[in-house]
Amino acid sequence: MPLGVHTSIAGGISNSIDRIEDLGCDAMQIFSRNPRSWTLRPIPRNEIDLFRAKRRKAAIWPVAVHTTYLINLCSSDPAIFDRSVSLFKAEIGTAEDLGADYLVTHLGSPLGMGADFALERIGRALKEVCESNLGKKAMILLENTSGSGFGFGSSLKDVGRIMDNAALLGLEIGFCFDTCHAFAAGYRMSSESEVAALLETVDREAGLKRLKLIHLNDSKGGLNSKLDRHEHIGEGKIGLDGFKALIANPVIRRTPLILETPKKSEKDDPRNLRTVRKIMEAWGKPA
Ligand SMILES: [Zn+2]
Ligand SMILES: [Zn+2]
Repeated sequence: MPLGVHTSIAGGISNSIDRIEDLGCDAMQIFSRNPRSWTLRPIPRNEIDLFRAKRRKAAIWPVAVHTTYLINLCSSDPAIFDRSVSLFKAEIGTAEDLGADYLVTHLGSPLGMGADFALERIGRALKEVCESNLGKKAMILLENTSGSGFGFGSSLKDVGRIMDNAALLGLEIGFCFDTCHAFAAGYRMSSESEVAALLETVDREAGLKRLKLIHLNDSKGGLNSKLDRHEHIGEGKIGLDGFKALIANPVIRRTPLILETPKKSEKDDPRNLRTVRKIMEAWGKPA
């Protein structure tokens, strides 16, 4: 069960590998650019080469890149939609240049236009990706959302439908399950029996074989609160028993875990990693 964190690229993208090694992790996630900017500034070739070389040496798997927050693949505004698809394609290109395994993306918001509209838009975006011959080297992973505002993708059924549609285009994509978002969207996971039922639901609605990554985050908001606020593992509304049950479950034995827990001090990542590793050790899982 590879374990890692979302880490910073401050000072150059290859520095993220050093941070991951310092934390003793074997998996990682990064933004490849400022997540709140539309600006496309290409990463210099030598930085990309350095990232790839360090990553190989550190034997990190998987490397996931998370797209910027501005991308809205189901916008009803044609200009924003076009801009989003362009940036999305650029993000996939960068992820592939970096040799990343996965590109994690949110789905955006159709702003009250409904699920069918959103599905049609996202299908169109993925068709463009396909036609540009992108998304083959780095697999696109759709992330479930908390359902705040009009955000699309809080239902795993919708995530499953998008993956089905992509498969029809000949594009194999998967999904990333964020525990905080799912809990905030109404999926229970605070005990062994709830986690067992959850994994059955995940399988039925989206297909466990397409689950490639788990964002392991506790939740500040309660069940079905629609609140996207991450909390330290075991200190939120999901609670430690939920994480114990999740990590212990043999169904997701090999699914990589990425922490996106709050970082107020340098001690926060090591502390959350310690909590997860302790649970893994209890279950005889190598961390
Ligand atoms: Zn995300
Ligand atoms: Zn997440």
